[in-house]
Amino acid sequence: MQILMILFAMYSPRFSPMVLTRPLTPGVQPLYQQFELEPVDVLHYDLSISIDRENETIDATAEVTLMPTEENLTDFKLYLKALTVSQITGASSFSQDGDSLFITLPVPASTADTVDLVINYSGAPAEESWGGFHFHPYVTYHMGVGFITDPSMGKYMFPCHDRPADKAAYDFHITVPDTLYAVANGDSAGVTDNMNGTLTYHWTLAQPMSTYLAAISVADYAVLHDSTDSRIFYYVYSWDVEDALGSFVNVDLMMANYESVYSPYPWDCKFSYVQTPKGDMEHLSQVYHFAAAINGNTYYDWLLAHEMSHMWWGNCVTEQFWTEVWLSESFATFSEAIWMETYGPEEYLDYIINNIMKPYLNSGELFPIIDPQTPAELWSNTTYEKGASVLYMLRHIMGDTAFFNGLNTYFDQHSYSTATTVDLIGYMEAQYGDDLAWFFDQWVYGPGYPIYDITSDWVQQGSDWQLAINMNQIQTVENFFTMPVEFLVEGSGSDSLITFINDSPNQEEIFILPFEPVSVEFDPCTKILSTAVLGIEEQTYPPRGGVGTMYLGPNPASAATTINWQGTEDMYLEVRVYDLSGRVAQNRTLEPSSRTLDLADIPAGTYLVDAVAPGNMRQTARLVVLGN
Ligand SMILES: [Zn+2]
Repeated sequence: MQILMILFAMYSPRFSPMVLTRPLTPGVQPLYQQFELEPVDVLHYDLSISIDRENETIDATAEVTLMPTEENLTDFKLYLKALTVSQITGASSFSQDGDSLFITLPVPASTADTVDLVINYSGAPAEESWGGFHFHPYVTYHMGVGFITDPSMGKYMFPCHDRPADKAAYDFHITVPDTLYAVANGDSAGVTDNMNGTLTYHWTLAQPMSTYLAAISVADYAVLHDSTDSRIFYYVYSWDVEDALGSFVNVDLMMANYESVYSPYPWDCKFSYVQTPKGDMEHLSQVYHFAAAINGNTYYDWLLAHEMSHMWWGNCVTEQFWTEVWLSESFATFSEAIWMETYGPEEYLDYIINNIMKPYLNSGELFPIIDPQTPAELWSNTTYEKGASVLYMLRHIMGDTAFFNGLNTYFDQHSYSTATTVDLIGYMEAQYGDDLAWFFDQWVYGPGYPIYDITSDWVQQGSDWQLAINMNQIQTVENFFTMPVEFLVEGSGSDSLITFINDSPNQEEIFILPFEPVSVEFDPCTKILSTAVLGIEEQTYPPRGGVGTMYLGPNPASAATTINWQGTEDMYLEVRVYDLSGRVAQNRTLEPSSRTLDLADIPAGTYLVDAVAPGNMRQTARLVVLGN
């Protein structure tokens, strides 16, 4: 109790964001470099990319149209990874060093000038375990986000100002063998037969897009058109058409749902899912959906919904810096539950509890949502599930009308642009009509979550009963959580819902009841993210699949696969393999010397691999077992 008193004092003043200084994981660079912007604003990328699948190379030209953001601009850099520039028309000189492409203009340019550069480049593009440019037996494709220090991976395909904050229009001209189909962002603007066994597919996007959302994918795709919503397409392997018909059956309903809850689909072009070996990734107007999820059933509707909602949250209103990535991912995770709500309020709440709150509380993560310091923190349960829980709680506190009006005003004011958490707070407070900084301070800028220690007692007083409720918070993080709290008091033949604000440590509240209590239940409707509410130690559900810092290779796998999890190489791992119904298919401890999972006894199918390392570190990854 004394400790909590001291902590509460430290928490004051309550209404300014907490600044937390934490040690970085050794060897990990801080993410602050994401804040640097070059003094340019790119208006348009016109990319012509010829793909040589045999040699796994590309030969390309990028016409980049930009405007300086400062006067007398002569020198600046774009970003380009692994590919070699042979010539730049419009520059007096250039050089490459690592991922940087340094450019010098022949004459100084002013902020009123438009600068056109034509950049010829080629080579073998780089791939990472997740993002980058991949040559796969079925598909050649580029994924725009990676789990490395700089998540922006536009530079793996084209020279660009690779920052979420610089949005531009795009044209893609993709030349491929005439047996293949090429899809990119935006709408089709035609196909040219080059009369040499190749076709050039032209895609165009007039509205502004961040570089990490630009992507192309080439395969023997069958093109399916949604029978209900003419804006929606599916690009699937020609042999998976039948499964696609089963797996995409609810997509038009998801679109209608988000258009009703949020705003009309914000893009003047198609929306589509593209089947790719890895996924899911919310490239604008063309979500990359991982191949095994197209399986004939709707199990992965939550994932389709998540990615579709990014067309609003993240793609249209984009986090200004990667350190604010919760403005994308928490919103998309919360949107999974918004989709489930179309089935009813019980399904919404059940999804929030089991698929959002519990995975976060089980993750062991206690750091703040804002200001992640390592790549692993960017793509963490904190970003996805804690952030979504925060939006869920905010909805309760504000009420539906103010909450959705706040979200939609924030969207309207920042669409096709960028935003920060401070922007969001402003729009929410305006609709709520009161201060909400206390809420964001503790839940977004502060670490962890509350753990409550609650006692209740009642004594008879004349014909009434006096109920005393004593609340303490016993979490280890230095963060007190002020929250409205609810107690359901049940007696024989009567019950009562008691509410008050829990805003101080060791708080005692007295209530007079006209009946004798039999039981006192805290937070009966699960409105607070807390282990006390969810009895979290009993874990009886399969972990939710999702992005993380653990990778399995090969994946899909037949006889065996190896776990790669940076930072845990010298640790024992407790590993469980679940099937999609939650049954444990394998449960074992892996020694540091061997990270191989033997799959010989596991039938073909999709699984979730859940690994726990000492110190409550936990990751989950999807695994597709091909069978033997
Ligand atoms: Zn997402």
